[in-house]
Amino acid sequence: MLMVLLLAMSRGGYLDCIAVPDICYHALPGFQPTLSAQLWLVIYDGQVVINDQGGHLWCSLDEFADYQTAIVTGYLDDVPVAVVELSWLKAGMARKSIRSLLSLSETVYAHFSHSLQILTSRNELAFCGYCGHRKQPKVGEWAMLCPQCGHHTYPRISPCVIVLVTRGDEMLLVRHHRHGKDATMHTLVAGFIEPGESAEQAVHREVQEETGLTLGRLKYCFSQSWPFPHSLMMGFHAEYECGELVLDDDELCSAAWFHRHNLPELPPDFTIAGKLVHFFL
Ligand SMILES: [Zn+2]
Repeated sequence: MLMVLLLAMSRGGYLDCIAVPDICYHALPGFQPTLSAQLWLVIYDGQVVINDQGGHLWCSLDEFADYQTAIVTGYLDDVPVAVVELSWLKAGMARKSIRSLLSLSETVYAHFSHSLQILTSRNELAFCGYCGHRKQPKVGEWAMLCPQCGHHTYPRISPCVIVLVTRGDEMLLVRHHRHGKDATMHTLVAGFIEPGESAEQAVHREVQEETGLTLGRLKYCFSQSWPFPHSLMMGFHAEYECGELVLDDDELCSAAWFHRHNLPELPPDFTIAGKLVHFFL
């Protein structure tokens, strides 16, 4: 498979090899400083730097004289792949948003979701919260270790809930202010789990706060890691029980019931919101 992968890359960038079946991303369970990468994902200012062939992976870092430490995060089949963050970029280099690339394939999603969260944790955990000393990556784990006081910290994962609320053949869809006032995409009610709260309690609270509705039967469906910046989205299906729609104007532009056969623009199928909607169709 290595030969297939490298051949695909030589024919015009890694985007070609997305079409090659059976290439999978395998996440490393921890930091391996002696492992050298053969492919690099290059990040600048929260975007992916695109190579000369339009692909999103690089076969060398010769173009980049000034880059932060490369972190090998896993393998694409048996090819070690690292993530690198640049502190500056040459004029004219193309970039693409991370969100626009996530939907290319399950492999790209798995790779980005893991490697970008490792990169985020390196930045967030660079200094010890107890003594202020600069931390170092701990070999064999993704934790950061303080050489001064010995405290170590694992990458932060922030649990969230997202819920498909249904009423007969209708589903509740909302639009958020954060997507812009002209955005047409609708999505599901979602929010972070508060300290001391169960996931189920968070679902009831978020729906009540944002829409004023009371839920009946609630069922956990599946979860999805979401790398903005380190969420774990836990997806639920809930049945409407009672109440009229009363919007939380600070959060939402709109909330309405839509028939399952007459839906507005929705998030991409690879997102957990898209999967929950399709689960119901
Ligand atoms: Zn310390």
